[in-house]
Amino acid sequence: MRALSMRTQAIHAGDRGHSVAPPLEMANSYLVDPDVGFSAEDLDDDSPFIYSRWGNPTVRRLEVRLAALEGGEAALCFGSGMSAITGLFTHLLGQGDHLVMSDVAYAGAVEYTHDLLPRMGVEVTHVNASGLAEIRSALRANTRLVHLETPCNPILRLADIRAVCEIAHEAGALVSVDSTFATPVITRPLELGADFVLHSLTKYLGGHGDAIGGALIGARAPVEAVRQRIGVHAGGVLSPFNAWLILRGLSTLTLRMQAHSESAAQVAALLAEHPRVTRLHYPGLPSHPQHALALRQMRLFSGMLTFQVEDGPAMARQLQQNLGVFSYAVSLGDVRSLIFYIDTEAMMDSTFHLQGTALEAYRAFAGHGVFRVSVGLEDPDDLCHDLEQALR
Ligand code: PLP
Repeated sequence: MRALSMRTQAIHAGDRGHSVAPPLEMANSYLVDPDVGFSAEDLDDDSPFIYSRWGNPTVRRLEVRLAALEGGEAALCFGSGMSAITGLFTHLLGQGDHLVMSDVAYAGAVEYTHDLLPRMGVEVTHVNASGLAEIRSALRANTRLVHLETPCNPILRLADIRAVCEIAHEAGALVSVDSTFATPVITRPLELGADFVLHSLTKYLGGHGDAIGGALIGARAPVEAVRQRIGVHAGGVLSPFNAWLILRGLSTLTLRMQAHSESAAQVAALLAEHPRVTRLHYPGLPSHPQHALALRQMRLFSGMLTFQVEDGPAMARQLQQNLGVFSYAVSLGDVRSLIFYIDTEAMMDSTFHLQGTALEAYRAFAGHGVFRVSVGLEDPDDLCHDLEQALR
């Protein structure tokens, strides 16, 4: 049979049963045969639903759809993007293991690798993952995992997934990619050689600023091993209601990403010419330092951009008061446009702790601080007008 396109799979993958739209099954427990084993050790592909921490039909439908969209064999959903990341890390890494991790990535993930992982006896090396030489020299005999985030939060620096996978695999390490900013519409890390893809479903995949969730996607055996040990035993699983909301959001993912990307390009064009804007980063613009990589690795350029002005904190107050369509708020990937100021010094103190050339490399993208903009699905003319009147 002809392979279905991503646009069709985003609507149909995982469909089964006799309702046209996915039913929401809010049960936590199921009628079972007395012979069914009641242990996570007994879980396999053919296991019936027993208890919703192990698996739920609505969540499973979402997992099948996510695996199809990323081109993976299996997916496992979590209660948040953070629990997907920490679930994979704690599954793979133990006493004496080594993690190589992007020095700039979602703040929660970086803070986890500064705090909790070392307490578990895991060594962590933070590197500027846009440089292959830095990755190569960070790898050791005990490196089990290289974790990338591309484009990375908050500065939109990219990592070359294919090249990093070649280097890491040669050294015997696995590679995970947090692809939250890209989504499978834009980049498919498994096709580029990654072993695992991670998502905060809270962002573009859910897409409507309501549900929180996370996912891990990869080959069946390792993903099912994570389900057994981390899903069932650590227990941070996704609620069926949030899975249902995210399934609904996924149906329009391909269309939304197209519109987010087109509108972000229009907003970027406005900001590039704006007299108050001193620096702008958007992977779709030739001015992005890794535009050539973006062209190779990204099918569209997503809805995220950053810009700088002379006095960021003062402008943050001005924008918070004057913007009418944009919301001054954290998060991203929402149908609504969001903007938030991320101060470089504050991020260094709380999260990244970069020094020397690593700090210079961060400042090359972020200066004293950036406005992180998540361009939503409002009319881009309204968004441009809103920014123009507020940036005066
Ligand atoms: N990964 C990225 C790239 C993110 O931006 C975020 C949150 O902003 C997360 C992971 C964490 O996701 P969640 O908030 O769903 O735990």
